[in-house]
Amino acid sequence: MKATIGLEIHVHLLTDSKLFCSCRTSLMGKEPNENTCPICLGFPGSKPKANKRAIDHGIVLAKALSCSLVPEIRFSRKNYFYPDMPKNFQITQYEVPLAMNGYVMLGNRKIRIRRVHLEEDPAKLIHVGGDITTARYNHIDYNRAGIPLVEIVTEPDLEDTKEARLFLEKLSVILDHLGVYDPTTEGAIRVDANVSIDGGQRVEVKNITGFRNVEKALNYEVVRQKSMANMGIDVSRETRHFDAESGTTSSLRKKETEDDYGYIIEPDLVKIKLHSEWVDKLTESMPELPDHRIERFIEQYSIGRFQAGIIVNTGLQLSLFYEECCNLYKDPKIVVNWIVTYLLKSLNYERLNIKESKVKPETFVELLKLIDEGVISERTAKELIKEYTVSGESPRKIVKEKNLSLMSEDELHKVVSEVIEENPKAVNDYQSGHVKAAEYLIGQVLRKTRARAAVDTVRKLITDMMESKPR
Ligand code: ADP
Ligand code: MG
Ligand code: ZN
Repeated sequence: MKATIGLEIHVHLLTDSKLFCSCRTSLMGKEPNENTCPICLGFPGSKPKANKRAIDHGIVLAKALSCSLVPEIRFSRKNYFYPDMPKNFQITQYEVPLAMNGYVMLGNRKIRIRRVHLEEDPAKLIHVGGDITTARYNHIDYNRAGIPLVEIVTEPDLEDTKEARLFLEKLSVILDHLGVYDPTTEGAIRVDANVSIDGGQRVEVKNITGFRNVEKALNYEVVRQKSMANMGIDVSRETRHFDAESGTTSSLRKKETEDDYGYIIEPDLVKIKLHSEWVDKLTESMPELPDHRIERFIEQYSIGRFQAGIIVNTGLQLSLFYEECCNLYKDPKIVVNWIVTYLLKSLNYERLNIKESKVKPETFVELLKLIDEGVISERTAKELIKEYTVSGESPRKIVKEKNLSLMSEDELHKVVSEVIEENPKAVNDYQSGHVKAAEYLIGQVLRKTRARAAVDTVRKLITDMMESKPR
């Protein structure tokens, strides 16, 4: 049985003020309902005015998704009664979306974008004493009402739940590169996921945050719909709610159609012409997109596609970090190895991203230089990177403070002699032809020196000493 998936993705656009009023969008440290005014509260007589920055963001996004832009922007009223929208309508775009008919490439699969449009976010409802169906009452926070959103609607081109997640990850990296959204804001992307099985009716799971959750919700739906089909029960067209805690979906309502909303053109907003100077100027100054950046990294730094992909797809900040390191250190391949193999692992373990962490290009390359200069062993560096990731302290300083630098030849000589004295059996084994026994002795030396010795040097010392030692 085959799944068909289409996504409707809502993204908070990064602007200082809301879509139709001058209220701030930043909610940091704000009391509920503090960022509001007569416009976003829908008072009678208040008149909206469109935010140019939000339209700019919409335009570059539409371009990045290879969509065609409309010549003239219009907004519409989507009429419905629900406490999250005090005007009893939401200003959105319906009849004439900002842009249409684009696509995103996932490998060699083309995922078509049906439309991209701008709209205002409704208020946030906080369910008290239960969930959406069982709450005793609701709090309403209008701080969010009027924050600009862009909605991106795909064609039902996604073939499985994993692909849906990959698509979302790719889209978020594109948005990140364009600088039109803040990936660290919780709920900056919300997804409605549509799924059907084998040409059956489709179900829409509303309002999911987190890409893992989208995949989970879709997995649950695919299993549910398949087992219904297997039992000969028709899946009905409906809207469902995803509960992240239990990982299940439940029915909210039988699906309404767009006709139910009685859209009308918003009479309080003027038409906005997207004249070519405006669009061209934005297009010319568009930042580099992730696919292009991957190709450039492969070319410019002679690194592999896999590693270039990891750097770029982790997010713009890591790409910028990598390039700065390459300016400060001679070998881009070594830099990429250390980032991909060790730095990202430490960051993940600490649940940090590069931006939040104290890791900086200047101090990170110090670690690599310390190895080159023969001050520390690679093994010490691999240990040190964990501490460095957390503190961001200069590795050179840590090495000094904790006495982690390589031992002098004399010191090392002493340790090697000790190990040879203490392990007559291994020495004997080696001398009677079991060369593997040397590895054990090397291990002992590294343990005693707390890795303050280069493996190659230790190996040479040990073998030299055993070769010359009388049996
Ligand atoms: P509506 O107007 O009811 O929201 P649309 O036709 O605009 O429905 O489609 C909404 C979303 O549903 C789109 O993302 C689209 O890709 C997806 N979709 C459409 N048909 C199907 C289907 N048969 N199975 C899964 N998703 C679908
Ligand atoms: Mg829809
Ligand atoms: Zn306002």
